[in-house]
Amino acid sequence: MLLPDHCLMGASDLTGAVHLPVRVLVPQQLDETLAPVLGAQVQRLDGESMGTTWRVLWMTEGADARTEATHAAVRAAVEAELDLVIAQMSHWRADSDLGRYNCSAAGEARQLPREFAEVLRAGLRMAELSGGAFNPAAGSLVNLWGFGPSAQAVSGMPRRYDEPGFELPTETSVQSALAHREWRSLRLDAEGVLLQPGGVQLDFSAIAKGYAVDRVTKGLQALGFRHLLVEIGGELRGAGYGLGGQPWWVDLELPSLQSGLPRTRIALHGLSVATSGDYRRCYTRDGVRMPHTIDPRTGRPIAHGLASVSVVHEDCLWADAWSTALTVLGLEKGLALAREHGIAALFVQREGGSDGANEDGQGGLREVLTPALLALAE
Ligand code: AMP
Ligand code: MG
Repeated sequence: MLLPDHCLMGASDLTGAVHLPVRVLVPQQLDETLAPVLGAQVQRLDGESMGTTWRVLWMTEGADARTEATHAAVRAAVEAELDLVIAQMSHWRADSDLGRYNCSAAGEARQLPREFAEVLRAGLRMAELSGGAFNPAAGSLVNLWGFGPSAQAVSGMPRRYDEPGFELPTETSVQSALAHREWRSLRLDAEGVLLQPGGVQLDFSAIAKGYAVDRVTKGLQALGFRHLLVEIGGELRGAGYGLGGQPWWVDLELPSLQSGLPRTRIALHGLSVATSGDYRRCYTRDGVRMPHTIDPRTGRPIAHGLASVSVVHEDCLWADAWSTALTVLGLEKGLALAREHGIAALFVQREGGSDGANEDGQGGLREVLTPALLALAE
């Protein structure tokens, strides 16, 4: 889900009407190599990719910075990065490196590109840190619960929940998918060669968007753009300053705007933010909420009533990975792990359980902030 337009704002928007209490978070360190560009204008481009939308905002510094050539250069740089991530890591495409690995026979070894290996290593590290709550090899389970690629896209896949004929998995099918989620057996050697133990389905959806945000940001910085805000499907990274020399102000995404919870507004200056939640992609069966976040330890969609987790981190890849991991762990265990690792996170818990009774958020949501997030408010 995307942040609404008003969530991406420059200084002038801050003078607009705000009816809810607002908590303001700012980074503890400013990038002293960068000075705000006063009098500069915001430029903006957007598009669609990775099954979602992207947008980039940047400040123009010179007289010729608003030319079509600059816009074309920015678009080309963004699309090159997104195309690379898709060609390597899309599980929607059987011809991506990930798609080919997933289709490999047991015992087959595959040479994987450097960027793929980087994301897999991060995913395996997150799996280790979270005791398998985050699992880059959760693809079979994700597919089984209807959140994988369409049956037409990759033959032999289970259907998606929104396709005709989709049926909930049986206990037997959950058990057999559980057998293929063993991330500990995945050994990526120094040359980037990975063995397919048989039936392992990698799924980088919980981390690849954040990685793509990082790549787009660095790609544009390499072209000389220093003040920019990058967003892909609600995951964001900001560098430098926006309009009027203000930082890039962004509101953290909430499960419901009517929740009564305060807004949390953060200055994305050298920071990223990602949000995972049980409301983002979800269906209900017999009144039970089936979110796209699967607990790979049980093989089932999470059901502990945690509506969302937002994580603020320097790198968007880690914000993305942590927000999914903490969502799977639930409030109590997630909070403990986040505190242990000094992660800045905001948890939003459904008070009435996970059965969807509080879907509209009518007073049924409670927020908990980690000390590292609270420190940004001081
Ligand atoms: P996110 O929105 O970043 O939390 O990512 C959710 C997506 O990651 C889902 O649509 C699945 O494709 C995949 N996924 C679901 N559960 C897990 C999990 N426990 N570990 C890693 N990826 C997961
Ligand atoms: Mg994620």
